[in-house]
This record gives sequence, C-alpha cells and structure tokens, in this order.
Amino acid sequence: MTNSATRTPPVHVPMTHFAEVNGELMINRLPLSRVAARVGQTPFYAYDRSIIQTRVAKLRAALPNGIKLHYAMKANPMPAVVGLMAELVDGIDVASAGELKVALDSGANPHEISFAGPGKRDTELRQSVAAGILVNIESFREVGLLAAISEELGYPARVAVRVNPEFELKGSGMKMGGGPKPFGVDAERVPQLLTEIGAAGLEFEGFHLFTGSQNLKAEAICEAQQNSWALARRLADHALSPVRSLNLGGGFGIPYFPGEQRLDLATIGDNLNVLIERTASEMPQAKIVLELGRYLVGEAGLYVTRIIDRKESRGLTYLVVDGGLNHHLSASGNFGQVLRKNYPVSINNRTDKHNNETVSIVGPLCTPLDLLADRITLPKAEIGDLVVIFQSGAYGASASPQGFLGHPVVLEVLV
Ligand SMILES: *Cc1c(COP(=O)(O)O)cnc(C)c1O
Repeated sequence: MTNSATRTPPVHVPMTHFAEVNGELMINRLPLSRVAARVGQTPFYAYDRSIIQTRVAKLRAALPNGIKLHYAMKANPMPAVVGLMAELVDGIDVASAGELKVALDSGANPHEISFAGPGKRDTELRQSVAAGILVNIESFREVGLLAAISEELGYPARVAVRVNPEFELKGSGMKMGGGPKPFGVDAERVPQLLTEIGAAGLEFEGFHLFTGSQNLKAEAICEAQQNSWALARRLADHALSPVRSLNLGGGFGIPYFPGEQRLDLATIGDNLNVLIERTASEMPQAKIVLELGRYLVGEAGLYVTRIIDRKESRGLTYLVVDGGLNHHLSASGNFGQVLRKNYPVSINNRTDKHNNETVSIVGPLCTPLDLLADRITLPKAEIGDLVVIFQSGAYGASASPQGFLGHPVVLEVLV
C-alpha cells in the first residue's frame, strides 16, 4: 500500500442521485424543505419515485431479456411503494399474510406473487392457496397442509421448493444459505420432498434459492447464481413436472459505508446471459427470476430529522435530533451489523457550505445505542436544521422498534 492510500480515510460514494439546488437536496424536483413543510412534522422518510423508476430501468437494461424481476417487499412494505413496484416489476415476493394483503391490494397479479418464510401459519397457507399465489415450500409439514387445503378448496396449490443449498453467497451482509438453516429444505432432502409433493398432487412449478443479502461483489453473486442454477438443474431430475420458475435469489447490495462501491451490473448481466442460454436448452420451460429488495428501493429513500439540541461534552459536539434508532435501527448499526459504521449524512440546507466541523449525531432515546453518526465531518449546523440520512429506502420504518421509549411514530411519503 502506498503512503497516500494509508493516509486517506475511505469515503462514501457520492450521493449524486439526489440533485442539489441552492445548497439543498431535491426530492423528485421538490426542495426537501418544501417536502418537510408538506409533511408537517419531523422525523419522516421520503422516497423518490423517479429514482426508483430510473433504478429499475437501468437494471433491466443491464440484464438479459427474459429475466423476471421480483420485488421482495420486506425491504419496504409501504403500500404506495409496493403499488409503484407492482407497476415496474414482474412480481412481488411476500413473507407473511400481512404482506400478501398489501401486495394483493396493490393490484399485483396474484400469479406473479410468491410467498417464502420459514414458519408459515396454517391460515397463511390457506390464504395463499385461495389467492392463487406461488408458495415456496420450506418444510415437509407444509406439503401435508397444502394437500389438505387444496382438497378443501378444490384446486391445487401452486408450489416451488425453497432449497437450502450446501454453499453460500460469499461476503454477504446476511447469510441465508449453507450449513444448518431454518430457511428452505436441505438440498439433500429435496428429492424426497419432491416425491411427496407429487404424491400429494400439488402443482410443482420450480425452485427458489436465496443464498445471501447485501453483497457488493459481482463475482461472488455470479458464482452463487451458477451454483444455484447447477443445483436446480440436478434437482429438476427428481421432479414429476418441468421447472417453470427458477428463482435464483438476489443479494444485490447498495453502498452504505465509507469505501464501498456500487455493484458492477455488467458482470452480472454477462453471467445471466450464459445461464439463460443454458436454461433454454436444458430447462426450456423455466423462467429465471431474481428477487431484489434493497437494490430497488434503498438508494431512493431519505430519513429526515430535525436538530433539537446542540451540545458539547468533553470536546465532542453532539447534534441531538428528534428521531433515531426507534425509526432507523439500521443506521444506528443495530440491525445485524458486526461493526458500527456511519451511513452517508447531510445537513439539508447547507450542502454548499464548507465551514466543516466534526460532530456526532444522536437520537432522543436514553440509550447509548441511539447513535446515527459517530464523529462525522459536516458543515456547521444549528438547532432547527434538517439532518438527512441517505440510503434509507429499505429496512427503515418497518424494521425499527417504533414503540421503544414512546416517541412519535415516523411518517413515510412517496414523492
Ligand atoms: C430479505 C429477502 C430478500 C431481499 O433482500 P435484499 O437484501 O433486500 O435484496 C429477498 N429474498 C428473500 C427470500 C429474503 O428473505
């Protein structure tokens, strides 16, 4: 390593997808201060519709034709966002009956909704069959239940098998495959599961493999996709009917922390081209599905708080804002992160100022965990200014303990 490399601390990738006008961030062409006035309170989340639309368009352009794009709505289940996604993508992936309701209400085609989750209640399975969605089977218990429900309702359940592979997505923020896992059925037991599915008369449509999340290494994602494809190809020999749906998961990450770079889509597109060709010759009825959450919506969201107080403690300046981990657990570093790092942050109306200072930004909760930014360099800010946390469109409001300490709940707007 050169001296200059050791001396320069890593920085966040520029957040240029949000335009700046007169020192202020724009959200879908509206100044953020105006959006704040329109919302009428802080804190709030604002999601930029145009950024989501551009994101999906660029992704489609980078991927081969014939790839089906699904939105994993646990990333952001706000009904207006799900409604927008229902228009932009080919299907919605849900993980509970509550999410299923939002997806159906959004107008998504039930045929293109799928349901994965390690512990589906009997009632959730029944609702799924009635809705006509695809159920990703994750246990032997679900086969028997779905058979009984199909008989009761008078039409067969549509099912895919969620496979717990023996490999994982290397370098992922969260690992969802490999070794013992509560998700899916171990690959080595899938042949027996397929036999039971056939005997139960369920409508088998394919496989679902999900090997990890929040990955920024295109090569690792390609390797996992190849391994997943090959495993599905082997398991397909044990199925009674052809594979029609081959869900290779997702795992596409976004840059949250200093030093991280955006994912290289070209490499992933090339790899999927190869897999699409192989699929055409070896599983000709199968459509490849990718299911993405944060990659589609994460960069389009801002968490906006207002500075309540500014205080010094033994040489460190704290900006105390009116929301924190109660609304945005991920930004506080308490949502599965091993090492706490800062999200990109901005002082809304001072983006053109250079009177920098080093501050820590904390929320109003009585716990040292409520830290939104640790010793970060920003233009000097005053009480009343808006503090903005970028990369907040996924795993925000719905993934945070809003009741903790009794502060007001956060609002969400799609602009
Ligand atoms: C959480 C999850 C996703 C979405 O993950 P992201 O990191 O937001 O893309 C997709 N599929 C399954 C099965 C999941 O559990």
